[in-house]
Amino acid sequence: MTDSARPTVRDVADALDRRYPPEWAEQWDRVGLVLGDFAAPVRTVLCVVDCVPETVEQALAAGAELIVAHHPLLLRPVSSIAPDTYKGRIVHRLIRADVALYAAHTNADVANPGVSDALAARLDLIDLRPLVPAQGAAEGGGRGIGRIGTLAAPMLLDEFTGFCARNVPPTAGGVRAAGDPERMIRTVAVCGGAGDGFLGAAAAAGVDAYLCADLRHHPASEHVADGGPALVDVAHWASERPWLDEVAGWLRGRFPVDAIVSDLDTDPWTVHATSPSIDEKEPLP
Ligand SMILES: [Zn+2]
Repeated sequence: MTDSARPTVRDVADALDRRYPPEWAEQWDRVGLVLGDFAAPVRTVLCVVDCVPETVEQALAAGAELIVAHHPLLLRPVSSIAPDTYKGRIVHRLIRADVALYAAHTNADVANPGVSDALAARLDLIDLRPLVPAQGAAEGGGRGIGRIGTLAAPMLLDEFTGFCARNVPPTAGGVRAAGDPERMIRTVAVCGGAGDGFLGAAAAAGVDAYLCADLRHHPASEHVADGGPALVDVAHWASERPWLDEVAGWLRGRFPVDAIVSDLDTDPWTVHATSPSIDEKEPLP
């Protein structure tokens, strides 16, 4: 295929903007094309959760002309992208290598299908609906933050935690749960990324379990003590990685491009250990 028959960075960015309209993003968010030459032809796209030096090197090794990332590289204002800063180095590396960068963040979270649909699909949840229906520009169409669904077969929290560990992308941090291990789980809410803010919505929905990332001690403890759903805490990267397959598949269907997915775990937690006394479960003397 000649370069003239290839989609350009503008073609792909425009299509992504239509699928994930920037006005669907939260006010504080920064989405869309971050950098790149609009006229450059695109043959290969690398989909990543985080645009970090390791995934940039992966893009260069794969010969990708475009990175589609979930997290914005430049969320907060900067006054310098000097190459002796962490993000400045990434910007320079990308521009020198002629690799464009596009971010779809909270606009991809609320989309239908969106980030949490892909997470729910890993758990085979059926009859999905939003955990928090979208308001404003994104309202309607089954859009919103998180998803609520039903397990194909109910299971105890203890079993469900193992089921989640087997079905979400593997990370060193693994999966942990809060609540009675014997609790029966039928209905589940999921939210890709940090889910603290939607604990109340999950409790109000009356689901048996709520799976998300980045849960903190006090909100989680108080929520469980209040009789809320059991909580399943997964690694942030693991909760959003499933979406990469969905967006890559969509790109391949929409354009004659090779859309590939980064399985490089960009979660900061790289080591996990359990105290031997917990593993042995020996009865107290
Ligand atoms: Zn995230």
